[in-house]
Amino acid sequence: MRILIVEDEAALAEALSEILRQNGYLSDTAANGTDGLEFARIGIYDLILLDIMLPGMDGLSVLKALRREKIHTPVILLTARSEVSDIIAGLDAGSDDYLPKPFSTAELLARIRAISRRGGRYLEDSCCFEDLSLQKGSMELSCGSRTIRLGLKEFQLMELFLRNPHQVLPKDLIIGKIWGLDTAADYNNVEVYVSFLRQKLQALGSRASIRTNRGVGYSLEA
Ligand code: CA
Repeated sequence: MRILIVEDEAALAEALSEILRQNGYLSDTAANGTDGLEFARIGIYDLILLDIMLPGMDGLSVLKALRREKIHTPVILLTARSEVSDIIAGLDAGSDDYLPKPFSTAELLARIRAISRRGGRYLEDSCCFEDLSLQKGSMELSCGSRTIRLGLKEFQLMELFLRNPHQVLPKDLIIGKIWGLDTAADYNNVEVYVSFLRQKLQALGSRASIRTNRGVGYSLEA
């Protein structure tokens, strides 16, 4: 799961990024609203943590622009303001949740989990598809009585497939979500990791498989 942090206070942005990393989330940071909007448009994020008070374009304007452009990535607004009118304005503009600063790490993580669950397929500690289940904490992929431990990138890629079964995931999208924006990773990296996962699915004897959609990308199918 990849999260975009839009926050101009460098210390807070860094702290958020570290908290997310420690809890198994990938993240990128934008330090102002304009960059935040640009990043969000790329479409690689599962969630956006959006500060309201930002230099230049403020958070509410970023949110309104996203929703106007039919970008429905879930947004949690972060703000020092706790005026009821701001909360209402944020929710009306299409935010999914609202977190007044200062907030505790536990509360932030709980809200992220709550939004992740709305997708329906995603559980707190594991994700499943057909006969497969992936455990977040141990990075173990199981099928029936067999279990294999995945490497970090394999785990992240498998999680991406399990969260989006039957959907063709373009290679560019996979690179963005797994390796991030600032990366030298290319299609070869994606192909290598897909082949690792295919070997593991085979070793597990799973009914699920990763299908190549020629010229487009990959999809997880039963
Ligand atoms: Ca701010």
